[in-house]
Amino acid sequence: MLVQQILKSKGDSGVITVTPGTRVAEAARILAERRIGGVVVSSDGTRAEGILSERDIVRALAVRGASCLEEEVREMMTRNPVCCTRQDTSDAVLARMTDGRFRHMPVVEEGRLVGIVTIGDVVKARLDELSMEKTALEGMIMGH
Ligand code: AMP
Repeated sequence: MLVQQILKSKGDSGVITVTPGTRVAEAARILAERRIGGVVVSSDGTRAEGILSERDIVRALAVRGASCLEEEVREMMTRNPVCCTRQDTSDAVLARMTDGRFRHMPVVEEGRLVGIVTIGDVVKARLDELSMEKTALEGMIMGH
């Protein structure tokens, strides 16, 4: 399955971004409100300059305490995140996420942000695919 099919099945929900100058407390509020685990960091909403995950915030809280919430996102984000394109396969994305130990991947086309896929999206797509294959194989065996 291709990333473009995963994006299509998620609907055109857009990508939630914050600017590098956003306070971490505000980013945390957005993560909680939108029930997501990470946001793409972008000055203009089109270039994926970084990614801020709930894990980055939890680690900073453990090391620096609550004062880290006053920092700007640029100080805490992971710069130059690994990205994929709509033409990448779900297997390739899953392999990169597993190797890199992260769960979010911005989707870019000609340097512009067009979506985001999470490990949950990829696993769901794979399970749906397996379920369809199982139904098709059962149909063939039963002679339907
Ligand atoms: P996650 O598992 O996605 O919540 O993130 C775990 C760690 O990997 C955090 O430090 C993130 O900032 C970082 N991270 C998340 N997504 C990516 C990505 N696509 N490329 C590089 N680092 C990432």
